[in-house]
Amino acid sequence: MRPHTLRCTACGEEHAPERRLPRCATCGQPLDVVLEIPDGAAPRDGIDLFDRWRDFLPFEPDDPVVTLGEGDTPLLPSRRVAAQLGMERLRFKNETVNPTWSFKDRGTAAALARALADGADRIGTVSSGNMAVSVAAYGARAGLDTTILLATTIADEKVPPIAVHRPRIVMVDGDYGELYFRSLEAGEVLGIAFLNSDVPFRVEGSKTIALEIWEQLGRRVPDRIVVPVSAGGNFRGIVKGFAELMEAGLVDRMPALVAAQAAGCAPVASAWAEGRDRVEHVDHPDTIAHAIDNPFPPSGDQVLRLLSRYDGTAVAVTEEEIIAAQRSLASDGLFGQPAAAVPLAALRRLMESGGAGRSEEVVCVVTGAGLKYTAALAHHTSETLHCRLDDLAETLQG
Ligand SMILES: *Cc1c(COP(=O)(O)O)cnc(C)c1O
Ligand SMILES: [Zn+2]
Repeated sequence: MRPHTLRCTACGEEHAPERRLPRCATCGQPLDVVLEIPDGAAPRDGIDLFDRWRDFLPFEPDDPVVTLGEGDTPLLPSRRVAAQLGMERLRFKNETVNPTWSFKDRGTAAALARALADGADRIGTVSSGNMAVSVAAYGARAGLDTTILLATTIADEKVPPIAVHRPRIVMVDGDYGELYFRSLEAGEVLGIAFLNSDVPFRVEGSKTIALEIWEQLGRRVPDRIVVPVSAGGNFRGIVKGFAELMEAGLVDRMPALVAAQAAGCAPVASAWAEGRDRVEHVDHPDTIAHAIDNPFPPSGDQVLRLLSRYDGTAVAVTEEEIIAAQRSLASDGLFGQPAAAVPLAALRRLMESGGAGRSEEVVCVVTGAGLKYTAALAHHTSETLHCRLDDLAETLQG
């Protein structure tokens, strides 16, 4: 790997790159990879994510990368939704087309590359869905012993897409927020690299979303970016990507930042609204946007710090707004899972309250695919016609 350190996002303390626990030894807050970006840094030719973004990532060409073709996703201009909102420059970063249908694959590939560079032969994660599928798939591809820890409350339909890759699955009875920390500790002792939601190298993987957007817009940043937030790892990565482009002198400003949450589990948005600098545990998360229902986000405080440092805000939206936004995305041809529609719902809210302008160039990150969560499909039925074959023409005319 390229020389780098791990720096605390809160107190700034530097830690050696060998440190495996992803939190600061002094204050317990998350760590960021700190890396020198060379002069003249630019996307390179190459097929996989790590070749293309080598100048911005902590890997060397001979590091052992396992890829399934993650990243390089479309930045799709909105037609229908933009027209409805009276906007001209609304775009969707379509992360549903990743190998396991969510952005998690970027971070899994990066965190796995780090684990392999460390010589790990066992990996694991704690997840209620998308990350579990992603780590199980990459673990299978890499031929590694893979452990997936799930909460006993997981929906039945979410287990087979994990199990098909044959990891060891352990259902854990107990507090899900606490499981995040216990798994890291147990992994440290047992030699299992836990690629959890916001570990520093997972954040590096998410960084490539920002780098791609910059490139796709012709090496510019949008005016505003809207990201659904749960653990906070993806938000951190996207913001870090734009911040590093600025530090490298490749852009001269940051986009305005929006952390979007569901009102049924909004630890970041509530802390932001109340002016607190710490998230508080949400006791009974309740939202259709299951992928973003972490009740005590491990990077929540860091998301709040980033919102304060840059021009940021947090927005919580209702269940009705989420389902309506899922339908709006579909009207533009995109089918995202409920969590992936939360940014559009938040943007609509901001437009209505005057918090965002029609002339802005806005990117909503559509984080995961609609088929991930079929229970939400019940909200999207429509009337169907029936006919006999002989009556087909007549029926179509009517
Ligand atoms: C994991 C996930 C999120 C939230 O990302 P965090 O890094 O946990 O904040 C949002 N949407 C989808 C579809 C996800 O799978
Ligand atoms: Zn610290």
